[in-house]
Amino acid sequence: MGLLIRFARQWVAGETLDDAIRATRDANARGIDGILNLLGEHYRDRSFVEQTLHEYLRALKAIGREKLRASVSIKPSQFGLEFGRAYCESQVLPLFDRVRSENGFLWFDMESSRFTDETLALYEGLLRRYPDVGVCLQANLKRTAEDLDHLLELGGKIRLTKGAYREPADVAYETRAEVDEAFGRLLRTLFERGDRFGVATHDGRFVDEAMRLAANHKKTWEFQMLKGVRDPLKRELVAKGYRVLEYIPYGPDWLPYFTRRLRERPRNVFTMVRSLVQG
Ligand SMILES: Cc1cc2nc3c(=O)[nH]c(=O)nc-3n(C[C@H](O)[C@H](O)[C@H](O)COP(=O)(O)OP(=O)(O)OC[C@H]3O[C@@H](n4cnc5c(N)ncnc54)[C@H](O)[C@@H]3O)c2cc1C
Repeated sequence: MGLLIRFARQWVAGETLDDAIRATRDANARGIDGILNLLGEHYRDRSFVEQTLHEYLRALKAIGREKLRASVSIKPSQFGLEFGRAYCESQVLPLFDRVRSENGFLWFDMESSRFTDETLALYEGLLRRYPDVGVCLQANLKRTAEDLDHLLELGGKIRLTKGAYREPADVAYETRAEVDEAFGRLLRTLFERGDRFGVATHDGRFVDEAMRLAANHKKTWEFQMLKGVRDPLKRELVAKGYRVLEYIPYGPDWLPYFTRRLRERPRNVFTMVRSLVQG
């Protein structure tokens, strides 16, 4: 397990808040803002939800104390969405109020499609009270073009991704080509009609496309990438003057996130096995 976490540290800051703060300081030194995420999801025990809230409040305090350039991104199922929206909102509110009092930014991750409606309803409720709150949309879902239209009318702040969850064919595009096509369309909509959004991809074609669109549309926007992925590209983008954010996950529950990163890019499994064999 020790070797495994050493390898996982490419993508995961570590198990503790101190680890996450260290990774954020490192990102800031590279000209990159951090987005902290405490790993864990689908909590069915309220004490875990309450611990999660407590941990995020500690994270905000540490960000403020250390004067770091960073925000946090939360998963609604970590905040008790399984117990209903009202309970989830009651747990998110103390964090939301703290972010608002510090003029900070709060991101909502998007989980599997069974949570999309509830997550967007929760998000809209908060957006009405404070503009600096953003939500992830997933290009692989067929509903996303409509969700994006609606959210742009409300002034929503969007992080556009391809989507990380395996979904049934009635709600999601199945092939990579279809997802890419949808991502391209949504990206154009963001540059044409949105403002203050995040382009969250490591795909060089869409990184180029975003830069091309930005040349014709004066918008406030940023690239968002995961910790440990495409670091040379991040460096290049920062040097060119683009705003780059790094999503920095941490916490004891890192294994599912780590295996998702491995699945995404089989070459990583080879590198891991090689480094484990070499000790
Ligand atoms: C900041 C951030 C937040 C996210 N939040 C969410 C969320 O809330 N909900 C959700 O469902 N998903 C989220 N995701 C994950 C996202 O949905 C995708 O699963 C993930 O980003 C992979 O898609 P991609 O766009 O990077 O392209 P992919 O299709 O995975 O990769 C496309 C191409 O990018 C290049 N590439 C990718 N990785 C590397 C690498 N390591 N080295 C070199 N080249 C590489 C390769 O050319 C590859 O062919 C988030 C992603 C980011 C970056």
